[in-house]
Order: sequence, then structure tokens, then C-alpha cells
Amino acid sequence: MAQDRQQLLANVSSVVVKIGTQAVCDAAGRLDPRIIDGLASDIAALQQARGIKVALVSSGAIGAGVAKMNLPKRPRDLPMLQATAAVGQSLLMNMFAAAFGVHNLHAGQILVTRDDFENRLRYLNLRNCIHALQACSAVPIINENDAVSVDEIRFGDNDLIAAHVTNLIRADLLVLLSVVDGLLDERGKVREVVNEMDSQVMQLVRPEKSARGSGGMSGKLIAAGTVKTAGEPVIIANGKSPGILRRVLAGEPVGTLIVPPAKRLSSRSRWIGLTARERGSIVVDAGCAAALRDNKSLLASGIIRVGGDFEPGDPVVIVDEAGQTVARGLSNYSREDVEKIKGHKSRDFAALLTSENYYDEVVHRDDLVIYT
Ligand code: GLU
Repeated sequence: MAQDRQQLLANVSSVVVKIGTQAVCDAAGRLDPRIIDGLASDIAALQQARGIKVALVSSGAIGAGVAKMNLPKRPRDLPMLQATAAVGQSLLMNMFAAAFGVHNLHAGQILVTRDDFENRLRYLNLRNCIHALQACSAVPIINENDAVSVDEIRFGDNDLIAAHVTNLIRADLLVLLSVVDGLLDERGKVREVVNEMDSQVMQLVRPEKSARGSGGMSGKLIAAGTVKTAGEPVIIANGKSPGILRRVLAGEPVGTLIVPPAKRLSSRSRWIGLTARERGSIVVDAGCAAALRDNKSLLASGIIRVGGDFEPGDPVVIVDEAGQTVARGLSNYSREDVEKIKGHKSRDFAALLTSENYYDEVVHRDDLVIYT
């Protein structure tokens, strides 16, 4: 297994690294220059020695803002929380810019909201920016735009943002750095490898740990599951350990490695299946569910019910009668039109839709990602 890990890591050329608030701050809650300098020096060394491209997702803006503004604790009042993040984010970037500057690297700030991942054009623009930064000796440093992203445009969880960034740029690896050594088993020992994200693994999540960070271990496993489904490995390790990133990339047995399946999803499938938020749902009969699993398009004849509010081109989730997700895909029709054609063959569409032009498929198989 140690051999496998080394082999897997020897071929990594692009990695997303996420560091959490507790890892990037000291015990007093201030940004810890030793951690930031150490990370910058690891990243510079990996780029120089192996040409590895790194995109960094860093938390700590709110934590740094709280410390700087001498607030007794993280504000609960939303505008105050936004203001705290605005103050802290500039401190965070200043420190990273200085740390990378020592290695002749630039730090490029990218602040994102949920919309940047859900709107496909913005999603692709984000990817272009990350690639452009990486092409000119700059390390992209990504965080949620906490100063403006509130309520439903907010992720509130950088583990998930890091997972979506990994899928977006098709990085070969996601490293989640927190203040635990990895996923701990029942005896408190680090699980070196996770092959399946089954109930046994999920049971190892300790509730007391989850309450501390924004995502905790359960959030990390959810984020890791997204990356694993796309076909990439994830390593959860301790960001406080000196040289941790270099050690992880050298294939040392540190942290928990979450092993992906052999198949990697295409970029488009990643967006449709893992990132885009569905606008509606389509319930299909058993025959239709089986046909979808057999790589066929979604036809109106197998549709029983429709929910939500979607337009042509919007992401929808396709479920069976038991409510189990069968697939996600992009609908050719609005909800209103699917209501009209559900249960019918395409030869009836012209009359039902009072239109000469129509698609035979409600969702074409090229726009579908099947869940097994
Ligand atoms: N964006 C938040 C910050 O910079 C962190 C969110 C998280 O901990 O996942 O403070």
C-alpha cells in the first residue's frame, strides 16, 4: 500500500491545497507567519523541484479579522461578520504575498461566491484565471468572498470550495490541511487509507471535532467524496506539522489517503454531476431508470412527475420513484414543457407543444451523469 501511495503521488503535477482557520492561526487566533512561511516554502520547493502547480484555498480571513479588531469572539451579526472578513482577508493576503515573495512567486487573490461555480460561464472564467496565474509564477489563493456572500450565495465551507476547485481545474490531488493528523479510527489511530466512503468510515467522524471548524471531519469527508467521485485522490493531514506538504507529496505515510476509482470524469460531467445546483427534479419509472443506467437518454415517456422551476439548459436531478438519485443532467425543456410531454412519445410533441421544432430527448445522454 505504501508503494501504491508513492506511485500515486509521484505522478501528481497539479494539486489543490486547502488550509483551515485553526491551522493557519496560532493559539491566540492570529495568523501564524511560521505556518504561512512554511507553506509558501513547501509550495515553492514543489514547483521548483517537480514542476507541481499549486492552487491554495486558505481560510482564516474571519479569524484574522476577529484578532485584529480585538473582538471578543466571531461576530454573529451578519454585516459585522462581513466587515471582519474584509479586514482579515487583506491581512491574510499581505502575509501570503510576503511569504511567496521570498521565493520570487506572486500571490494572486481570488474571492468566490457560490454563483461563480453555478453559472457555467463564470465557472469557466474562474478556471481560466487560475490557469493564467499558474502560468506566470503566481500562486492562486482562493477564499470565499465573505464580505459579500451571505445567505444562499454562500458556501460557508472552504473544504467544499477546495473540492470544487479541484474538479474545476482537474487537479491530480486535493490536500486538506487542518489540525488533526487525519481520519482517526476507534482507537484514535490515523486511518492511513480509505477505499470506500461507507457507513463504517462515516461513523469514525467525531462530533466534538466537527463542532470546532466550519466543516469539521464530516465536511471534509463530504468534500473528499466529491473529489473521489470525479476520480481524484484526497489526503487529509495536519497543517501544523512542519514540511507537511512536502512530506505528503513525497508519498510519506502521513495523513489519510482517500483513494479514487480508476475512472476519471470529464470536466463537463464534473460540473453537471457534482457542482451545478439543480433547478428542478424529474421522477422517472423503473424502466426509464434502468435505461438511463444503460447509458440511454432521458425520454419523456418514462417521466412520471416534475418538480422545481427550470428553463432549457438548466441542471436537473433525475430520481426514481423511491427518491433515489439516478442521474443529473441538463434539460432540453422548461419545467412547463416537460409537464406537457411527460408520459408521451416524441411523435406527439409537435401537437402537445404547439411547435414544429422539438428535441426527442428531455435530457440527452451527453448531458447526463449517471449515479450508480
Ligand atoms: N471563508 C472563511 C474565512 O476565511 C472560512 C470558511 C471555512 O472555515 O471553511 O474565514
